[in-house]
Amino acid sequence: MAKLVVRPTAELSIQSYLPEIWHGMKVSARHFWVNVLTRRDIVTKQYPEEKPVYPARFRGNHRLMRREDGSVRCVACYMCGTACPADCIRIVAGQHDDSTIEKYPVVFEIDHMKCIFCGMCEEACPCDAIRLDSGQHRIPSYTREGELTQKANMLALGGLAVARQGGDFK
Ligand code: SF4
Ligand code: SF4
Repeated sequence: MAKLVVRPTAELSIQSYLPEIWHGMKVSARHFWVNVLTRRDIVTKQYPEEKPVYPARFRGNHRLMRREDGSVRCVACYMCGTACPADCIRIVAGQHDDSTIEKYPVVFEIDHMKCIFCGMCEEACPCDAIRLDSGQHRIPSYTREGELTQKANMLALGGLAVARQGGDFK
């Protein structure tokens, strides 16, 4: 048997929305005056004068690390490109003069228009050659070409890494 539900009838004051508009304006006015007078809850940063401090594990701009002799650590193994879910890493490998290294990246390019800053490339790299711990976020470009970050730019951000496979790193 169907059960009849008695619907509540809204009073005129509720139907007019005026009390709720009044409550909403009170909340907005309270926040406005608290922030004007005390600046207590203002979260807007005056960037770029006031720069945010990123946490140590922040994944920002990519950087390519160097060996002790200053050369790029990357051995063009394509592990990062294989792991990348956005398929935005392009590497062209070249033959290295040193037979113990074998290969190096002639081209190493990341399409930051596609990158989702997931850090999978960093995780996949067996050589500690690519990192996102540059402590800065990417400055967006107005052009599609500007979003293609090249090896030289990433090397300029890179520092010395002395990782040993399966061992310690600095
Ligand atoms: S951070 Fe993620 S999406 Fe960006 S290049 Fe690395 S693996 Fe690809
Ligand atoms: S950055 Fe690392 S994972 Fe990517 S190609 Fe170079 S060595 Fe391989």
